Amino acid sequence: MIGFVTPIDLRSDTVTQPGEEMRRAMATAEVGDDVLDHDPTMAALEERVAELLGVEAALWVPSGSMGNLIALFLHLKRGDRFLAPLGAHVLDAELGTAAWLAGGMPHGLPVMSAEAVTAAGGGESPYYGLRTTLLCLENTHNASGGTVTPPDEHALLVSAARSVGLAVHLDGARLWNASVALGVPPAALTVGADTVQVCLSKGLGAPVGSVVAGSSSFVVEARRVRKMLGGGVRQGGVLAAAGLVALDRISRLADDHANASALAAGLRSLGWDVPEPATNIVLASVPDPEKTLTSLRDVGVFASPMSGKVRFVTHGDVDSSDIAEVLRRLREDA
Ligand SMILES: *Cc1c(COP(=O)(O)O)cnc(C)c1O
Repeated sequence: MIGFVTPIDLRSDTVTQPGEEMRRAMATAEVGDDVLDHDPTMAALEERVAELLGVEAALWVPSGSMGNLIALFLHLKRGDRFLAPLGAHVLDAELGTAAWLAGGMPHGLPVMSAEAVTAAGGGESPYYGLRTTLLCLENTHNASGGTVTPPDEHALLVSAARSVGLAVHLDGARLWNASVALGVPPAALTVGADTVQVCLSKGLGAPVGSVVAGSSSFVVEARRVRKMLGGGVRQGGVLAAAGLVALDRISRLADDHANASALAAGLRSLGWDVPEPATNIVLASVPDPEKTLTSLRDVGVFASPMSGKVRFVTHGDVDSSDIAEVLRRLREDA
């Protein structure tokens, strides 16, 4: 049936196309050689993100995976153990690099609570035991359906980590969504974290780019690891310019959240099993996800598999009329 209908792509918030304004900013960006010294537009982006996150310094990286890897590489020594929520991107979606490049033994926590962190991270272990040294948080939590950790819960997790001597890394690929959903500044969600990774290429719509941030001394080392991984770019200002435009679009995420909520409500009215989304990710429980994904595709609705469910993600290239159209197609197809 594809070919007769315009596809509506809800596989991810990464599918957005850079618009006119963003392309113009890229084309006219002031640039330097970011590997030699510093590209001025890169520097401007990094300063702006550091300020937004309430940290000393920040470093542009080509992807969120590289940002997480750089942070974990600097936090972990071979044989250290790190804690992360089950389903975390660092556990399941980065090819295990946290283990084989950063050297950490992963330990997934089924429930993220202060008690779980102190139980898993504390206590004496025998000389042949692992040393748990790091807690990785993820806000919003992608695999749980874009769920949000509010500042008070975040503070409890951080202080639990501290009480047993753990460093804290925050995978904030969609921290902007959490900030908008909670109505708090992004910096309110990074308090106490040693390092933070945020994506510019998800809901904010940049074609490429993430930022890893923390103390100034962390960023000095992070720049070395980025180079080691092949992530240093020369006239990076062309890419950073897109990031600067993207950062003007944080408040726009509220539309994505409203569209996700409307989609969830519509799906429920069609009898689907869908909880209310906290942000822009709708996770539907279906008996056979592959089968559902295929029948969705047949009516020109693209979704993706996640956590044994079907995931729909709203973003800047779909609006409320697209959501209404998705629901119309499903109603007709039912
Ligand atoms: C998308 C994402 C990343 C990074 O992804 P890249 O595709 O490497 O930019 C990291 N963590 C979470 C939770 C994500 O959703």
